[in-house]
Amino acid sequence: MTAQGKVIPPAEKIRCDACPVLCFIAEGRSGACDRYANHGGALVRLDPLTVIENGAPATPFLDAGEDADEWDGDIVKGARPFVTALGAGTTYPDYKPAPFIVSQKIEGVDMVTVVTEGIFSYCGVKVKIDTDRHIGQERALVRADGEPVGHVTTTEYGSKMLSLGGVEHLTGGGKKEGRVTCDTLLRLCNRQEVELTIDEGAALTLAAGKAPIIDGEAERLMRVGCGSAAIGMFATQWAPHADEVIVVDDHITGVLTEHQAGKMLDARPSGLRVKGRRSTPGRYFQVAGPGSGWGGTDISDPLSILRPADPKIAWPGLRLFMISTTGEDWAYFVLNDNLVPEPAETPPALLASATRVAENCEPALASVLFMGGAGGSLRSGVTENPVRLTRSVRDALANVTCGGAPTYIWPGGGITLMADVMAMPENAFGYVPTPALVAPIEFTLRREDYAALGGHLDQIREIGTVVDDGVRRIGATGNGVDPRDRRNFSWGR
Ligand code: SF4
Repeated sequence: MTAQGKVIPPAEKIRCDACPVLCFIAEGRSGACDRYANHGGALVRLDPLTVIENGAPATPFLDAGEDADEWDGDIVKGARPFVTALGAGTTYPDYKPAPFIVSQKIEGVDMVTVVTEGIFSYCGVKVKIDTDRHIGQERALVRADGEPVGHVTTTEYGSKMLSLGGVEHLTGGGKKEGRVTCDTLLRLCNRQEVELTIDEGAALTLAAGKAPIIDGEAERLMRVGCGSAAIGMFATQWAPHADEVIVVDDHITGVLTEHQAGKMLDARPSGLRVKGRRSTPGRYFQVAGPGSGWGGTDISDPLSILRPADPKIAWPGLRLFMISTTGEDWAYFVLNDNLVPEPAETPPALLASATRVAENCEPALASVLFMGGAGGSLRSGVTENPVRLTRSVRDALANVTCGGAPTYIWPGGGITLMADVMAMPENAFGYVPTPALVAPIEFTLRREDYAALGGHLDQIREIGTVVDDGVRRIGATGNGVDPRDRRNFSWGR
C-alpha cells in the first residue's frame, strides 16, 4: 500500500484489461477466466484465433491468384476462410474497436467482418427436451448444485422447455447463484453435461445434442405427435384390424371411432368411453395426470382411463387397440360378454403398426439455444454510432453470426439473438467471473455499409495479414452457409 492506499502490483505481474475484473497476472500464470495469460511479460490470449474453412482442405487458402476472389458458383467456396471471434479476445471498455476488423473480397464485393468475444452479463439459454414425461410444473424452479438457475416454461409439441440464466439468476440473486448459473450456462453452451433438479419434479442430466436423461432413464424417442395427430396419421392402418383404437397421450388422447379420421373411414361407434375432458370429437384432454407412464401420463394400465362401456353401443368381441404416442407401449383387448376388455394376443398387423409409430418418432434430444443481446455497449467496438449497427442488422445490411453459426434476431428493440450451440464450433464459450458468459460474435457487412454506419475504418485489416500459421482452422459448422453469402443480405437477395 502507498500512503494514498493504492495497491502496487509486483513488478512481474501484468494487468489484463480485457474485462472489468482487471486481473493482475503473474509470469507464467493465467487470469481468472483462463483465457489470458502472462507469457514473458506479454498478455496473450490462450486460445488461437479460429477460422472456418467450409468443406475445404486446411490449406492453401491464401493462394490469392488473380481470380481468387471471383464467384465460382460454390456457395461455401472452401478456399475462403471466415474469421470467427473464437480466440479473438475481448476489448474493454467498449469504445475500443473490436479486436479484429477484417476485410475480404467476396464475389467482387468488399466485405468486412468485425469479430469480438463479447461479454454477456444478461444472457441465458433456452433448452428443449424431447420428452412426453412430466418433468415439473410450469414455473417450477430449475436448480443446479442447489441454486436456482432458471425455470420450467411450458410444453410445446412434445418437448419440455426450460429457460435458464438471465439477469435474475446471473446478477439478481446471491453470489453463489450467479456463479453456479454462469457455470451451468457455460457447460450447456459448450455441449457438456449438466445435472439439474426441478422443484417437485424430475432430476435431469442434459447435454446439447444428446438424449436427455430423466430420473436416471435415458429418453429414447420423441413422440410422433399428440394422440389426435397419431389417429390422423395411422387411422387407415388401424381401422381394418381393430374396432376401436385409443392413442394415450397426456395432452390430447385420440379415440379413432369418434375422431374425424374414423368418421371418414365409416368406423362404427364403439361405445367405449374415455375419462377426461372432451375437446372435440375423438380428442380428450386430461385423461390422467402427467407422469412417466403411457404417453407422458401417470398411468401404467391403459384401461384405467376407460369408463364402463355404453351397453347400448358396445358389443362382445369388440377389438380394442391401445397405444402410446411413441409406440413404445401398446396393448390389445377383446370385450367379453360383460363388455369388459380382456387382454388378447395382438394381431400381427397391429404389432407392425406399433413398430411403424416408433419408426416415425425421431430420437429424443436436448437442444440448447444461446440467447444473448448485442444491442448494448458491445456495438461500440463496431461503430462510433451504435444505433446505426442496430439499424443495419434490422435492414439486413449486417449479418450477425456466433462463431460462424447463423443467428435468429428477435424483432423489436436491440439486437437480441439466439443461436444453436450445436451449429457453433465446440467449446466456443468462455466466462469471466463478474459473472458473465463470453461468446463469439461476428458482424459481416459490405465495406461501404460499414463506412456508412460510422465503422472503425482505420482499424480494418486485410484478411491475409490476420490469417497466418498460428490460427486454428476448422471445417464447416452449422448449416454450412457462408456468413458472407449474398443471400444473407438485403442487397443480395
Ligand atoms: S477475468 Fe480474464 S479477461 Fe477478465 S481481466 Fe481477468 S484474465 Fe482478463
